[in-house]
Amino acid sequence: MRPAKALLDLDAARHNLARVRELAPNSRVMAVVKANAYGHGASLMAHALESSVDALAVACIEEALALREAGIRAPILLLQGVFSPDEINIAADTGFWLTIHSERQLCWLEGARLSAPVPCWLKVDTGMHRLGVTPQAAAIFYQRLLACPNSLGQPVLSTHFACADATNPDNTLAQITCFNTIAAPLNAPCSAANSAAILAFPQAHYDWVRPGYMLWGNSPFGINNPAHHQNLRPVMTLQSAVTAVRDIAPGEAVGYGNTWIATKAARIATVTIGYGDGYPRNALNGTPVLINGQRCPLAGRVSMDMITVDVSDIGPVRPGDTAVLWGESLPLAEVAANSDSIGYELLTRMPLRTPRIVASDHPSSGQLIR
Ligand SMILES: *Cc1c(COP(=O)(O)O)cnc(C)c1O
Repeated sequence: MRPAKALLDLDAARHNLARVRELAPNSRVMAVVKANAYGHGASLMAHALESSVDALAVACIEEALALREAGIRAPILLLQGVFSPDEINIAADTGFWLTIHSERQLCWLEGARLSAPVPCWLKVDTGMHRLGVTPQAAAIFYQRLLACPNSLGQPVLSTHFACADATNPDNTLAQITCFNTIAAPLNAPCSAANSAAILAFPQAHYDWVRPGYMLWGNSPFGINNPAHHQNLRPVMTLQSAVTAVRDIAPGEAVGYGNTWIATKAARIATVTIGYGDGYPRNALNGTPVLINGQRCPLAGRVSMDMITVDVSDIGPVRPGDTAVLWGESLPLAEVAANSDSIGYELLTRMPLRTPRIVASDHPSSGQLIR
């Protein structure tokens, strides 16, 4: 078997969820497992966390149905609600919760004939200007939902922050003030916090928190932000192995386009992992790679199936030696910063080609996830 793989540590996921509980002890927790649980495997992660969360959230009904088919019983919120009225019937039949973010969606709900009413979250646009009803219209929408027989129980009032990961809190504080002004007279259960707000804005925890990224052990804050370290444990280790080692003379180039040129005699290790496996193609020369646990700089362009690493400054390197691309000792955020991206994107675009393997204490008994 080709050694390129994503090792998944389920204990780390449970540890990170415990961190959410510790940070937001008075809130219910909705684990966000959209986009295949940020590339980790939605079914696997939902099963690992289901017993310890109050609900799950996904982007669309296809993702929710896949979780039901995988045997997940927890309530599942559709974060963007439905894209057509017939999806409301599926939601009612299957136990999904709806986000209502627009007049159009509320009209669909009001006009629906359902097998059972559905719990609804009313989304308010407090400043991100992406989804949600206006602050001025929020009370009217809320009353309409309360009066709608297809809406079950008391709707949750929700919003989303644009800048909760920024060092300057002003934007988020303004959104919180706006949200509080809307929520106070409605006496509604509330939800606002994504991972960054769970970590940085305790006053925005409210009744429900919605962690995604931090559950997978990554800090949403930049690596140079003092708030970066949060006692989170990465769930994924992207790992492969050296398959060739060669010595090259000063002046020789490495890889497509000859973008890396040896300034002195150099030893180059080839690792079998590339952009076809989810390693970012635009990672710069010098991006750290762990070879046998030691940091070495990427040397030359990332190929589809391979990368080349300058191992001149570490001890002997042989084919078969381990290469870690990100994980416990090499933060995903650092690789992302070296490739003009964010960890969220690197994780969610990990292709199916890369086998996801549940790590265990016994390497030979790791379980391959299909
Ligand atoms: C994706 C998403 C989240 C989770 O955000 P993280 O930064 O991954 O914690 C929370 N709420 C909404 C509405 C989302 O779309």
